[in-house]
Order: sequence, then C-alpha cells, then structure tokens
Amino acid sequence: MASHLFRRVLRNPNNSSRVFSSLDRSFSSDSNLIRATIFPGDGIGPEIAQSVKQVFSTAGVPIEWEEHYVGTEIDPRTQSFLTWESLESVRRNKVGLKGPMATPIGKGHRSLNLTLRKELNLYANVRPCYSLPGYKTRYDNVDLITIRENTEGEYSGLEHQVVRGVVESLKIITRQASMRVAEYAFHYAKTHGRQRVSAIHKANIMQKTDGLFLKCCREVAEKYPEIVYEEVVIDNCCMMLVKNPSLFDVLVMPNLYGDIISDLCAGLIGGLGLTPSCNIGEGGIALAEAVHGSAPDIAGKNLANPTALLLSAVSMLRHLELNDKADQIQDAILKTIAEGRYRTGDLGGKSTTTEFTNAVCDHL
Ligand code: ATP
Repeated sequence: MASHLFRRVLRNPNNSSRVFSSLDRSFSSDSNLIRATIFPGDGIGPEIAQSVKQVFSTAGVPIEWEEHYVGTEIDPRTQSFLTWESLESVRRNKVGLKGPMATPIGKGHRSLNLTLRKELNLYANVRPCYSLPGYKTRYDNVDLITIRENTEGEYSGLEHQVVRGVVESLKIITRQASMRVAEYAFHYAKTHGRQRVSAIHKANIMQKTDGLFLKCCREVAEKYPEIVYEEVVIDNCCMMLVKNPSLFDVLVMPNLYGDIISDLCAGLIGGLGLTPSCNIGEGGIALAEAVHGSAPDIAGKNLANPTALLLSAVSMLRHLELNDKADQIQDAILKTIAEGRYRTGDLGGKSTTTEFTNAVCDHL
C-alpha cells in the first residue's frame, strides 16, 4: 500500500505535466545516452552522488553525467562560486541532479542555492513526503506533497542596515511568482489524482505579502473546481501536521514556510536522509536535489544515507519518462530499507553509505 502510494507521487499518470515540463533532451554525441548535469556538491554530497552514479550504472540507466563542481573563486558573471558554464550546462541539458551545497561564509557573493534558483528560474520546489514501507515511524501512510515557492519571499537577499543596531530584510512577494507556483500546485494536484490544495500563510499578520499570495491562489483555485481549496495559517498547519498528517494532501506556500514545513514533513517519515525533491524551472528545467543540507558533521565518514538523493534521482528519471528504470531503482531502495539488514545510522542501523549502496545494487 505504502509502496504504491510512494510511487504515485513521482509518477505522472497521464503525462499531462508537459504543460510545465518539456521533454527536450540533450543527447551525448556518440550514443543514445541522455545528458544530465550533476553537481556532487559539498559535505556528504560527493559520497551520495557517487552512490547515485553506482546505482545508475548497475541499473543500466542511459544517462551520461556532465559533472560540475562548485568553484574556488567567485565567477563575476554569476557573482557566486558557481560558474556560468555550470549554469549553461543545466540550461542546455534541461535536467540535472544536485548534491547539497554549503555557501562559504564571506562577503561579495551570492548563496549557491540562491544563484541556482534565480539564474535558472527554478520557481517551484516539489517535496513529496511518504511513509516508507517497512520503516516504522510514529505515523503510518503519510502521503503529502509540499510545493514551495522558490524564488522570492524572505529569500530575496535584500537585507541592509538602516542605522547602527537596526537591520531590515525585505520579503518580496509578486503576483507573477505567486500565480506561477499556484498554477503549478493545482496542475500537479489535478494530474496526480490529488483532491486538495492547502495554501499555507500568515496573512493575518503579513496582510499585504501573504495576502497577495493567497489572492493568487484563490484566483487559480477557481479554475480547478474539482480540487478542494483551503487556506491554513502556518502555525496551525504545524500543529495539525504533527497531530494528524493525513489532514493534508498538496500544500503550497511561500519560500520560508516551505523550507520549514518540508523539514517538519521529513521528520514525520523518518528524517532528512529519506526525503527527495525536485526543482521545476521555466522552460522545462528539472533539477532534482535532496532536501537535506551538506551535513558537515558526518561528511567524509561514509555514514550518509544516500536515499534522499537516490529518490531525487528517481524523480529525475520520471521527468525524463524513463519510468521502467525509475521503478526498478525505487523498488530496490525500498526493499533494502524494508529488509532492514543494511540501514545507515540516521535510520538506526550501522551500515556505511557504501554497504547500503551495494545492497541497493544487489536488489536491482
Ligand atoms: P542546511 O542549512 O544546508 O539545510 P543543516 O545544517 O540545517 O543544513 P543538514 O546538513 O541537512 O542541515 O543536517 C541536519 C542533520 O541531519 C545533521 O545532523 C546531519 O548529519 C543529518 N543529515 C542530513 N542529511 C543526512 C543524510 N543524507 N544522511 C544522514 N544524516 C543526514
């Protein structure tokens, strides 16, 4: 049951998401391999990216990775440690996988994640959250999707000092970005057999910004009479989620709320090591990534759980409509976790990243 539920989120039953995604693919010159960009990223990133490469290679996935690294110097064209060439690679391939990136602390450059989101116009971050069969948590059959606006809100990067001891951070909400993410959420709900969309907000306090976000959601909701639409204040939403997650189906929200709620949801099903996500961009770009960060506390120790990045890679395969390969890999991951013999530390086991990855490969 849960396995069936889990698959539902990543698979689009009638392929009608093409409104939002283009199947343009970039092929390798000497074969029929599809080119995809990969950013191994920082911290545990290279270890879990290696796991994805090993699993893809064992499963015979027809993908050629174009590997890009975070640079050591700021590229003036992007004002960040990501080079223009890296961004061009994603624009060209339209599909990619991103490991966690930790932005070096310092002045004069943009956050790596913000650079990617802004430059590639990755406007929606889709984070499925499902109970994994065989991995018991406090809740059974969690089955929800958070859709986070990804380009503005509190992440606009507009902070300054007004006078000494007083700083200001601007939360930007625009009609254009709110309509775009609301459209995506309703379209997603419709094409994935979902019944309800909840807009999460704090419009009672932030009347103008969250008020505009809600106005846009309402406008889009009118075009989807078959989908139940509701509005839930963020604090109440948190309480309802921990009391009974099955009250929710698809949740759409501004940037910061999405960041917080999706981690909360990850906690419902066993933690950050398990939750995948995919960034949807203008022009059909899909950049999949794990929800978790670079986990510097366990980096380089072969302890990281690669499941979140592996499942993100599965969502990338579904975007490419390589559903057979996606099913095969997803089943192997779920079987490995359900069996319980090889589990990483975050799931209460003692296995290394390598042992877990080998077990997944054995199940392929
Ligand atoms: P960010 O600010 O980039 O989101 P963070 O420091 O808030 O990063 P993470 O890097 O995601 O959060 O780490 C939070 C905790 O979860 C850490 O204890 C980390 O070890 C653990 N963790 C995160 N990802 C994994 C994973 N894939 N496998 C095992 N543990 C993980």
